[in-house]
Amino acid sequence: MTHFNFKSPAEIAAFEARYSDECHAVKKHKPGTLRLLKEFAGRAATEFDSRQAGNPESPNDLWVDLYEHNKIKNSGVTGKLLRKHLRDFLEAEQDRKCCYCQRPLVNISHAKPIEHILPRQPFVQHSFHLWNLAVACFDCNHAKSNDCWVDPALASVAAYPKPQDFVDSYHPRFHVYDEHVKFVRVQTNTVNISLYIGRTLQGKNLCKSLLKKVSAKDILLSSNLLLKESIQKLHDNMPSLDGRAAIAVDEFNEALAGITLKLIR
Ligand SMILES: [Zn+2]
Repeated sequence: MTHFNFKSPAEIAAFEARYSDECHAVKKHKPGTLRLLKEFAGRAATEFDSRQAGNPESPNDLWVDLYEHNKIKNSGVTGKLLRKHLRDFLEAEQDRKCCYCQRPLVNISHAKPIEHILPRQPFVQHSFHLWNLAVACFDCNHAKSNDCWVDPALASVAAYPKPQDFVDSYHPRFHVYDEHVKFVRVQTNTVNISLYIGRTLQGKNLCKSLLKKVSAKDILLSSNLLLKESIQKLHDNMPSLDGRAAIAVDEFNEALAGITLKLIR
């Protein structure tokens, strides 16, 4: 496919309007929630300006700072609640499917992290930009990590890139998935495998840089059911892990990603 559509400015504006309406479960807390998001977007812009001026990066992780933001005690507006409602909103917008692999999202928060389409490093200025946020499954988020799929020169531009700037990479907020990627999913009693085919340059690059890793892990786990169950148990317990145990799980995931990549090389 050579011709494809971008989501129209009206569709993108409607997406933002829906967020304004659904950013908090309690109506009176919606304005405060939007203000808090705007405040953090301002802090991200300040950090961007500072880096552009040649200053060293702030050691603070703004995304973590937001999560811990609880200045207005008992106000109903906290960073933790903002992130929870944001995730719920994005998930509903995506029909509860991962923004990249389109597999159904598992109903535990760590298994469906909020994804920064342009990674926070080096695109700190877009850390809280609604167009830059989506929900990915654990596998896609982990496989993508900080991979940058656009011209790195865009990292020194303050404004968010236009849809037309994503000439060779898929953007979940701007592109229509079905126009870029076709997938086949095979599920039996014991096997659950997804195979992806790119239909455009954007779709092909998404397959090459990410979806082939997801397919490889599916195939590996489908032929190792004991390993699959063990990983599921690990992931179920991840929220209660800290310190060395959490680091060990991360190392395990890295090693598993390395094995799956070798399978498809
Ligand atoms: Zn995914």
